Amino acid sequence: MTNIPKALEELVNRSQFIGADQSLVVFGGGNTSAKGEITDHLGRKRTVLWVKGSGADMTNAVAVDYPALYLEELLSLKQFEKLSDEEMTDLVGKALVDPNSRRPSIETLLHAFLPSKHIDHVHADSICALTNHKGGKKAVAEALGEGFAYVDWIRPGFELSKYSSQFANMEGIVLAHHGLIVWDENSDACKDKTMNAVNKATKYLDSLAVKPAAKFDHAGPSDQELTDLLLALRGKLSKKSKRVITIDNRLEEISRRKDLSDLAEAGASSADHMLRIRPWSAVLPERANPENSIPVIDKYVDRYKKYFEANKASLPQGYSMHDPDPKVLLLPGVGSLTTGSSRNEGKMLADIAFHTHSVAGKVLDSFGSADTIGDAEIFGFDYWPMELYKLSSKPKPQKFAGHVFVVTGAGSGIGRGIALELATQGASLVLADLGDEGLKETEKLIAASKGLRPEFVVGDQTKESVVIETLNSAIKNFGGFDGVVMSAGIGVSDSLETLTLDKWNQGLAVNLSSSFLITKHAMINLRKQGIGGSLVYIASKNAFSPGAGFGGYSVSKAGMLQLMRIAAIEGGSAQIRANAINPDAIFDNSKLWEGGIREQRAAAHGVKPEELEDFYASRNMLKVHVTSKDVALTTSYLLSDESSRTTGSVIAVDGGVAAAFPR
Ligand SMILES: [Zn+2]
Repeated sequence: MTNIPKALEELVNRSQFIGADQSLVVFGGGNTSAKGEITDHLGRKRTVLWVKGSGADMTNAVAVDYPALYLEELLSLKQFEKLSDEEMTDLVGKALVDPNSRRPSIETLLHAFLPSKHIDHVHADSICALTNHKGGKKAVAEALGEGFAYVDWIRPGFELSKYSSQFANMEGIVLAHHGLIVWDENSDACKDKTMNAVNKATKYLDSLAVKPAAKFDHAGPSDQELTDLLLALRGKLSKKSKRVITIDNRLEEISRRKDLSDLAEAGASSADHMLRIRPWSAVLPERANPENSIPVIDKYVDRYKKYFEANKASLPQGYSMHDPDPKVLLLPGVGSLTTGSSRNEGKMLADIAFHTHSVAGKVLDSFGSADTIGDAEIFGFDYWPMELYKLSSKPKPQKFAGHVFVVTGAGSGIGRGIALELATQGASLVLADLGDEGLKETEKLIAASKGLRPEFVVGDQTKESVVIETLNSAIKNFGGFDGVVMSAGIGVSDSLETLTLDKWNQGLAVNLSSSFLITKHAMINLRKQGIGGSLVYIASKNAFSPGAGFGGYSVSKAGMLQLMRIAAIEGGSAQIRANAINPDAIFDNSKLWEGGIREQRAAAHGVKPEELEDFYASRNMLKVHVTSKDVALTTSYLLSDESSRTTGSVIAVDGGVAAAFPR
């Protein structure tokens, strides 16, 4: 960017500083501004307000996050008595210097109506803690002195902006249950004022806090109890659409408090919480297990429905109830469990929950009891038309949003192709392979195609302990899984007369016994999760149409098909589907052809090694090369609900080989 005005540059730098501290602002919360001069398209000097764009995160603030608005136009809006959110947004939008710039914050007029050059508005934890109880006004005066105005809860918008402007001659404003506003002509001084006020509030709270040491007693679940619980919760919370569950331990101390339920009720302490988490977090029982935890979710849903019924009169036309499932669950002894379509979303909710509940803890420790803003006001946020509009204009979720899959052999060849395809469709993945080099390369390719960061398990999948670890990784990182793709495999050449027992056994171990172990443990876990699942076996054209000199391989793959059929029969009652894919002659990224196999197969077919791809292509009916992407697309189909009526079947992805037609 060329020629960024000094005031804007100072604003961006100050915002990055503030954004780096989540106890000041989380995920797009809070906003900052500066006023300055620009030269407009006709060469006139004009005064503008640069204010943070709606939803922009200050952590990585850049100049384009701060649209410029003609200040004069904004100030003339002060003449109105009342403006609805929609009217205000419309009028504020008309003041944009560049109509195509980012939509300015809903709190733009708060910044416009206060005259100072630099303004910070943060949703600081300690400021919320000062005000989330009955004696908020007194506490603010004691903590910050008399120089700060105290404004009772008013939802962000025109009314709050206009009301706050009368306090321009004071040091700053504390917005109850919301945050802090300070200002100065100098950017650094403005930042210092923010930090000063927040530090004073923290000190004050610390001076009041009774040490809660005696209050801890909740015990957490054991490792096995935790995985069983996660599976049951994910099953319960994924009935309508698939979710991942993210564990966060930052609230562990808080989750052990005896007064955890009161603390959760002290609830919505910030606008960010109300927007993202909705009214409350659910609290799971001590020593939580599936039996005592599922009823907690049912109760939460009932409560949400009642809250919706009680407040729905204020719902704008054309909108219905949000998904009533809890997004944040507090698990005694562990911390928070959050749900979302990805781990990123879960992490965002966990960040907000961490601050909200820490604030509630502070309030209870310092003031004994909390005061919340009430369901009707929370409902106003929960169903804020501005936000509903954002939701309705959101792009359709990706095919595999919230889905979790395990892919073995993901460091090369078909496994890598499958991992890439699933990742580009929004899946959360656990990728397994013998070494981590190939996996790292797969991860790079996933990152390049904007997929979610996968989890790795490096190890030998013929070992039962590694198989268990692999599936547990899916449960601990994502709450469970929806499918497993068994793609790890090795080629085993030699005629029966020359094949050694060792080589034979190795082929069976990698291609068949490992699949048995994965099938076994996947089925055990999927049954606990209770929402079905899909097992995909990457077999081979050779399973139906074997060739000389490749017996060890062909037998193991034929065994894999039989294993798949048994899994389909035994898993059916739990909606666990099992299907196989028979590919042929996949060469891209594949390790299968290394170690002399390419030369050996070429010799068997009477062609040169470098002619092998073309030979295979000439052999099939469609005369095509078959790639890992082709196998990946079929895998994606078998993992998805598109194939929900298909189990126990084999799909050939081989370009058409008559001798290998499934039968
Ligand atoms: Zn705010």
